[in-house]
This record gives sequence, structure tokens and C-alpha cells, in this order.
Amino acid sequence: MVSPVVVIGGGLAGAAVATRLARTGQAVTVIEREAGPHEKVCGEFLSVEGCQDLAGLGLPPEHLGAVAIDRVRVLHRRHAVEAKLPFVARGLSRAIMDEALLDMARKAGAEVLRGVRVTGLQGTRVLTSAGEYEASHVMLATGKHDLRAMPRAAPATRDGYVGFKMHWRLSPRALDALGSAIELVLFGQGYAGLQRVGTREANLCLVVRRQHFAELGGTWDALLARLMDEPGLASRLGDAQPLMARPLAIANLPYGHMHRPSGDEGAVWRLGDQAAMTASLSGDGMAVALRSATLAADLFTRGATTAQFHRLLAAQVGPQVRRAMRLQRLSEHPLALALGMQAARACPRLLTLGARATRLPAYEATKA
Ligand SMILES: Cc1cc2nc3c(=O)[nH]c(=O)nc-3n(C[C@H](O)[C@H](O)[C@H](O)COP(=O)(O)OP(=O)(O)OC[C@H]3O[C@@H](n4cnc5c(N)ncnc54)[C@H](O)[C@@H]3O)c2cc1C
Repeated sequence: MVSPVVVIGGGLAGAAVATRLARTGQAVTVIEREAGPHEKVCGEFLSVEGCQDLAGLGLPPEHLGAVAIDRVRVLHRRHAVEAKLPFVARGLSRAIMDEALLDMARKAGAEVLRGVRVTGLQGTRVLTSAGEYEASHVMLATGKHDLRAMPRAAPATRDGYVGFKMHWRLSPRALDALGSAIELVLFGQGYAGLQRVGTREANLCLVVRRQHFAELGGTWDALLARLMDEPGLASRLGDAQPLMARPLAIANLPYGHMHRPSGDEGAVWRLGDQAAMTASLSGDGMAVALRSATLAADLFTRGATTAQFHRLLAAQVGPQVRRAMRLQRLSEHPLALALGMQAARACPRLLTLGARATRLPAYEATKA
């Protein structure tokens, strides 16, 4: 019997590559540790490239209830600047999006194992909580989670970030004021993004320097109290109802990570955050994950090597990651932030240009 391609992780990258490969007739097994729909720490801003990729798979996000996001509003202390985005993005809960994609992979013919955790990888032998699987190739799509027995995707940094996500039911007044904008609140030691992800629901996702979080007392309540000092957030969340018992949190975010193949990588393809992790301020991480799946499926069916794939992926997404990281660093530098806000208030179109400059280029089927 021919061994299948085993996809480890059924998030965006994993489910998308499984769908694309299964549609070519390739035997694929997806192993996802979560047994059912689950939320993830994510701003849930699906950029235009991600929307196009999903539509190309036959899953336009608007069919899943995604709301249109076509403006950006940047807030810093008492200042606010607003501009039109140069594209229409979408806001959609990850629990809905990821589940729909995994369902699509199943319908395309992939075998999807839920509630099974991969515990190790020995060459193409995949060790799991439910036994071992022999793979012809492995697509490693575990997001920011590293597998034991595999080199870390990226070293954790001491001054790194902690990320949080919480869904809220906003009051009609706050919902109206938020409108179809993504609001970015820059508070110096991090930033928060607020946007609609449903008719009355909004997502607050933020990253904060780990050290600042510790100084605040290291609790969500203390962090939220600090955020409420920001006039923009206080006016939106002051009378909002949290829709989750506790926020989701994640630490050690390897921002700027770009996988560089070191010699022979064998048959292990790294996808999504395992391959590249862009600054979340740019709202393009999901587009990068989907792009890595498109390129991997394309090159795999044309017989390319993993080294060729990783090199081409780095060439396609590397410039976006570098630009987005530069922007994210500037947003934390007090002088750069003050000057940037001043310039944006004088010329709001700078925000539109910044949003355009941090998109991925159009996908081109590339020679392997
Ligand atoms: C704070 C923050 C905000 C962000 N905001 C945005 C945004 O607004 N817009 C945007 O486009 N991007 C955003 N991103 C980035 C985006 O969330 C990621 O880039 C994207 O989810 C990566 O997709 P993935 O498929 O690589 O990983 P994931 O979507 O994380 O999927 C990985 C899957 O692997 C499974 N898994 C992990 N380990 C195992 C194991 N051992 N065995 C089996 N299964 C396993 C997990 O359960 C998960 O389902 C943000 C990221 C952060 C941290």
C-alpha cells in the first residue's frame, strides 16, 4: 500500500494543503489534536489575498458569514487617524473558518483524524497519541507549536510578546461607531486590534511586551484595566459583554521567523507559521499560511524537493515579512510613533499606502 502524505495540524495551512492535494487524487491524512471547532489567538482580519485564496478553494469567506472590513483607524492616546483600506478584507471567527476548511479537506477525500496529537517525528514515521503512521511526505503545519524531536521553528526571545484574544458583544452605539473599520490602538508596549467578526460580535486581539505584562501584575484583569486607559478602547468596550469565560493567550511569539533549509530536509515540508511568521500588525499571517499551502501543493504535484519549496516560499513571502516587521518595530518606538501619527494626521492616505505595502504579491505558479 502506498503511504499517504501526512499533514500534521489541521489549521489553515494544513487543511488548505490537504484539500489541494486530495483534489489531485493524492492520498492524504490530516492529524489535528483538537477534537472539534476551536478558537485561536488571532485578530481574525482576513486580508484580501487570504480571501482570494479561500475563494479559489471554493470557500468564499462571505459565504461563512464574514463581515466586510474596508477602513483602518489608528488610535494613539487622544489622537485618531482614519483612512480607507486599498482593498476589502473580512472579519470572521477562526473557529468557523478553520472548521469549514477542514470539512472541505474531508469532502475532497482527505482522511481527517481529530483529537489525535502528534508526539514525535522520526524521518517520515509519525508518532501519535493513537499509534504510528508511515508517511511518504510530511507537511508540518502545527502553527506556532513545535513538535518535540523536531528542531524549534524559532528560538523564543526573552523580551518577546504575549498575545491575547477575547470576543465581545458590543452595544449598538459602540458597534455603530466601530463600523466597518479595523481599529488599531498603539499603546507603546504593544498594540490592540478591534474589529467586527459577526453582526454584533467584535474581536479584541492584542500583543503586549512580556515584560510590560509582568510589570502590570501578569493577569488579564490588570492588562484590561490598563487598556481601558486608552480612550478609544474604553469607549468601545466600556459597556460590552465578554463572550468567552477567559481570553485565549499565547506566549513566545517568534515574529519575523523565516525557515531556511539547512541541508537535506528529507521529506518534511514546513507550512504556515512553521515556515514564516509575519508581524500580526499587518494582518497577513493567514494569507501567508494559505499561500504556503498553495505553493506546497503546486510544487509537490510537480515533483519538486522540499529545499526548492522552502527557497521559493522565502522568496515569495520574505519581502512582506521584512516590511511588516519594520512597521511593527516602528509602532513601538516612541519618537517614530509620535512622528508617524503626526504625518498620518496630516496625510491619512499614508495609512492606505502602508496597508498596500504590506500585502503579498499575487500568486504565480513558479518553475520548480
Ligand atoms: C496575536 C496574533 C494576532 C494575529 N492576527 C492576525 C490577523 O488579524 N490576520 C492574519 O491574517 N493573521 C493573524 N495572525 C497570524 C495567524 O493567526 C497565523 O499566521 C495563522 O493562524 C497560521 O496558520 P497555521 O495553519 O500555520 O497555524 P494554525 O492556524 O495555528 O494551525 C495549527 C494547527 O495545528 C494543530 N496542532 C498543533 N500541534 C499539534 C500536534 N502536536 N498534533 C496535532 N495537531 C497539532 C493545532 O491544534 C492547530 O489547529 C495573528 C497571530 C497572532 C499571534
